[in-house]
Amino acid sequence: MEGCIFCKISSKEVKSEIIYEDEDFLVFKDIKPQAPVHLLLIPKIHIDNINSIMSLDSIKNFNKIFYIIKEVTEKLGVDKDGYRLVVNNGKNAGQEVNHLHFHILAGRAFGWPPG
Ligand code: AMP
Ligand code: ZN
Repeated sequence: MEGCIFCKISSKEVKSEIIYEDEDFLVFKDIKPQAPVHLLLIPKIHIDNINSIMSLDSIKNFNKIFYIIKEVTEKLGVDKDGYRLVVNNGKNAGQEVNHLHFHILAGRAFGWPPG
């Protein structure tokens, strides 16, 4: 999608520190980390957010997301101590980039409830 920063990262038009990549997904470092480890996992296809998903068929490969998170957190050695997954979905959640993404936050303890 034109003007979307994460589409530009996905097409390599904009540089990022890539941690994992396959044909459908990309994991890269957040430019403004909120924890010692702060990664973003995105689908390469543009979807604004969860409520923009058109059909079950269009996300048939999304079960892979959890396996990628497992692999990446193990590779970085943050699986044992645990980590926080965040999806800011829409206005009230403070979503700033309208391209669906999972935050993977690790390397410190996180409070609950979230702010
Ligand atoms: P959200 O508020 O959930 O939409 O989060 C958007 C995230 O994208 C923020 O944590 C930003 O720091 C991050 N971000 C924005 N632009 C870039 C970029 N060019 N490279 C890496 N992360 C980015
Ligand atoms: Zn996009």
